[in-house]
Amino acid sequence: METRVLPPDEEGIAAAAELIRRKATVAFPTETVYGLGADALSSRAVAQVFAAKERPRFDPVIVHVADPDEAAGLWTEVPPQARRLMDRFWPGPLTLVLPRRRRVPPIVTAGLPTVAVRMPSHPVALALLRAAGRPIAAPSANRFGRLSPTHHDDVLAQLRGRIHAVVAGGPTPVGIESTVVSLVEDPPVVLRPGGTPYEALREVIPNLRLAPPAGPSASPGTLPRHYVPAIPLYILEGEAFAGGETVDRAQCGLLAYREAGAGFGRVEVLSPTGNLVEAAARFFAALHRLEGAGVAAIVAEPVPEVGLGIAIMDRLRRAASGRAHVQGRRVVWTR
Ligand code: AMP
Ligand code: MG
Repeated sequence: METRVLPPDEEGIAAAAELIRRKATVAFPTETVYGLGADALSSRAVAQVFAAKERPRFDPVIVHVADPDEAAGLWTEVPPQARRLMDRFWPGPLTLVLPRRRRVPPIVTAGLPTVAVRMPSHPVALALLRAAGRPIAAPSANRFGRLSPTHHDDVLAQLRGRIHAVVAGGPTPVGIESTVVSLVEDPPVVLRPGGTPYEALREVIPNLRLAPPAGPSASPGTLPRHYVPAIPLYILEGEAFAGGETVDRAQCGLLAYREAGAGFGRVEVLSPTGNLVEAAARFFAALHRLEGAGVAAIVAEPVPEVGLGIAIMDRLRRAASGRAHVQGRRVVWTR
């Protein structure tokens, strides 16, 4: 199939909405990353999203809505905590999980009795949702398990020829996926850290807890290995450890937090001022560039685990093949 590249203007969005109504697949920008969308109430449409991504059927997708009322039409009820979270954080990078109504097809929820819903704040996403006039199921617009796309060129690199269209909206501002909160459990739990900081959510739900990283959880898609670049990635540790494989720095790409290290084959700095919002916005694009830099591996500095740093470290741990430390001009890594 030929993938149409649509402009992010009124005409392009109208064409994208028409494709959604005709059960086709359309990638579009949101404030987090690009989503691969289809009519959420059509099993046939959503099945094409799974096929294009090669996504396993046990991994449920997030449904995007134009407003809180449309969300309420997908859940059996809207508890007061959900109402408070929507009032404070919607539109924005927060996804809420609640029991689903029967009109939501099982393929969307991977057979779960719950559905994950969010209202995005990106003007193109909102305009598309309004023009389509229905909820849009949209996981990130990448091949399953690979890096999330934060630019329409990343979408085309992975999915050209496999989807009907992409709305070319340029770079996405937040750059990291939404925070997923389950309100089915008591106390409520963050299933996936993301673009809405945990600390801000705790102001509304003081007993909100974080699911253990990469552990068994109620969120099927939070696999221990995910967001994987095409070359191995190792997380840097300050302390030396015994054993491992030794290579020259020049063979490694460095994903640095604030300061560029010398002697590496390629360096990407996430935020010279130590701003974690900026670091999140650059995170996937920096990994894409390191992936394409012709180095043997990526070594990544950890970032502080506060605010969006929690989401960044979650992605790094899922992307990592092991750990590394720097020894003079060389890097030592172990799986
Ligand atoms: P994405 O690839 O950004 O669409 O991520 C969707 C993720 O949201 C899934 O991999 C799950 O981890 C989570 N999710 C979606 N629906 C549900 C649900 N009904 N219950 C729990 N987690 C969900
Ligand atoms: Mg994804």
